[in-house]
Amino acid sequence: MSVTTNKSTGGCMCGAVRFEINGASSRVLHCHCQSCRQHTGAPMATLAVFEAGQVTFSGDERKRYTSAPGVERAFCATCGTSLTWETVFGDEGKMCAVHISAFDDPDALNPTGHSFYSERISWFDIADELPRHEGFVAGSTPLQFGPKTPG
Ligand SMILES: [Zn+2]
Ligand SMILES: [Zn+2]
Repeated sequence: MSVTTNKSTGGCMCGAVRFEINGASSRVLHCHCQSCRQHTGAPMATLAVFEAGQVTFSGDERKRYTSAPGVERAFCATCGTSLTWETVFGDEGKMCAVHISAFDDPDALNPTGHSFYSERISWFDIADELPRHEGFVAGSTPLQFGPKTPG
């Protein structure tokens, strides 16, 4: 699924780290996993997923750490803005998922689903009809669509 076209740009709040992305995002996910919540301090994180080769960083080197085996997250060392989730993901190779709030034009990236819906904070829900997956979206069947409870 193609949810963006051409080039998108963005960076951290202080401007020390910038990025430019060529081409479309494969998916834009609302992620409810605990790691995304801890990384951002928010009840849910929204990330646009790209192949790593689509994303070019400039300015200061982003600060990285390993948040799970094989997974690195990165942020601006100066202002702390959450920037990326990076890993090698199955057949898709090296991926770079970029936090939606770091984009100059986040309106251009439309969410396509929810991931790790089962890990969400129990009081957190939003009224969209997007597919909600137990874990990663790729290859999994949605638990449900929209806020309705299953069955
Ligand atoms: Zn910064
Ligand atoms: Zn997550």
